[in-house]
Amino acid sequence: MKTALTVPTEVLHVAEALSAKGFEAYLIGGCVRDLILGREPKDWDITTNANPEEIQALFPETFYENTYGTVGVVTESTDPRLKVIEVTPYRIESGYSNARHPDEVKFSDTLSDDLKRRDFTVNAIAYDPKEGKIIDEHGGQEDLKRKIIKAVGDPEERFQEDALRTLRAIRIAAELDFAIDTATMAGIVKNAAQLAKISRERVRDEFVRILESDTPMQALYIAQKLGVLKYIIPELEDAIGVDQNQAHSFDVFEHLLRSLQHAADKKWPLIVRLAALLHDIGKPASRRWSDEKKDWTFHGHEVIGAKMAKKILRDLKFSNEIVDDVVKLIRWHMFFSDPDQVTLSAVRRIITNVRKERIQDLLNLRICDRIGTGRPKEQPFRLRKYMSMVDEALRDPISVGMLKIDGTSLMALGERPGPRIGWILHALLEEVLDDASKNAQDYMEKRSQELMQVPDAELKKMGEKGKDRREEEDEAAVEELRKKHHV
Ligand code: ATP
Ligand code: MG
Repeated sequence: MKTALTVPTEVLHVAEALSAKGFEAYLIGGCVRDLILGREPKDWDITTNANPEEIQALFPETFYENTYGTVGVVTESTDPRLKVIEVTPYRIESGYSNARHPDEVKFSDTLSDDLKRRDFTVNAIAYDPKEGKIIDEHGGQEDLKRKIIKAVGDPEERFQEDALRTLRAIRIAAELDFAIDTATMAGIVKNAAQLAKISRERVRDEFVRILESDTPMQALYIAQKLGVLKYIIPELEDAIGVDQNQAHSFDVFEHLLRSLQHAADKKWPLIVRLAALLHDIGKPASRRWSDEKKDWTFHGHEVIGAKMAKKILRDLKFSNEIVDDVVKLIRWHMFFSDPDQVTLSAVRRIITNVRKERIQDLLNLRICDRIGTGRPKEQPFRLRKYMSMVDEALRDPISVGMLKIDGTSLMALGERPGPRIGWILHALLEEVLDDASKNAQDYMEKRSQELMQVPDAELKKMGEKGKDRREEEDEAAVEELRKKHHV
């Protein structure tokens, strides 16, 4: 039967160049699956009976990644998805002794061998674009119709060969909104522990795609049930069954997943999704019973949570930039946001703490937190009002760089180069955060000259106090207001 799938000309050209020399060339994997589903393929893979040298000889520009025999064919397209078409010789599953990598890559002459080594039936459909012919030896089209992720061949063996497939099954099911076949699920349960041997980068990449899917809550529930979650973020399991105070209907685990799901529903970026998933990760460790309140308390959970999140995200090899941003959002997620009560100076401090580029994310995290609690949506006018205070606060200095004096002028006034310069500037910033009108050149110079007389130890304390005090004050203020409002 002929099937016409729409294939971009760049891809067709590569396939045609191969068949013109007498080689077989099939589109394979995610691109065929996505074409049949009417989704846009992320990248284009071709499989062929030509070997890497033969492939390279056919195209003017290629690069060769030795590990899997894949040749990247560079096209003239400006579309990043079409810039490089990956052409891989037919491969056959060879021994896997460590659940991680094939011991060696073995090529094969037949498409059938290649289809057998693929992970899931929906990823094992080949398409010959010249003949318009689909080769589907594992029932992939049927499973696409049934919306099922099913291992090719014996699930247990397939997960033993490569444990990352356990996570890939959950990820692909989340992205396509598919269910996982029963026997395949059983194979995942049996082999999930092998995930400990997989590189954290590979685990992270699949985890990120789960978070970026439309249904991360369901996917992480399934990951937990199948025993996979503890090889991604074991700390999340400690939140299961941890009851909260009376303002909450869900345990900490469900609250975190619901918060994450709201971020996904809103299509908010990865940073917010990570922060939503981890914002209360410090709660299990900080939970105390209060006889006075007759309820659970979680004092300092945002401080503990920020530390835990740093360790978790570093372990998953996230970039420093992502780690810093998410940790800050978690550290400050308890910020006081009542626009009728908050002062401009408190808003400035929050901006200093999370950076102005992230203040909108912090507000969005607050929305996720509320929705994840099952409370009605944050009154939008209050957040708008808070945002207008942010705009106002941003007109005033919130960092050392915005002061009307700098290190060079301090040295011109007679201060020696060295750490004292930084201490003086930070001490000045502290004053300006409280009272923006002090950021005038006259006052800055006059006050600098006074600070220049202060001995090292004391000056250091003044300079570093800002950071510490900011945290203490913030906690004290929040606590005070919480008491007042009984929240
Ligand atoms: P997407 O392109 O949306 O990321 P994909 O299914 O194409 O999804 P890729 O990582 O691009 O995923 O892999 C391409 C194809 O290679 C897959 O469709 C599958 O056939 C095969 N494949 C990838 N990883 C594995 C694996 N760990 N085990 C077996 N086959 C795999
Ligand atoms: Mg792909």
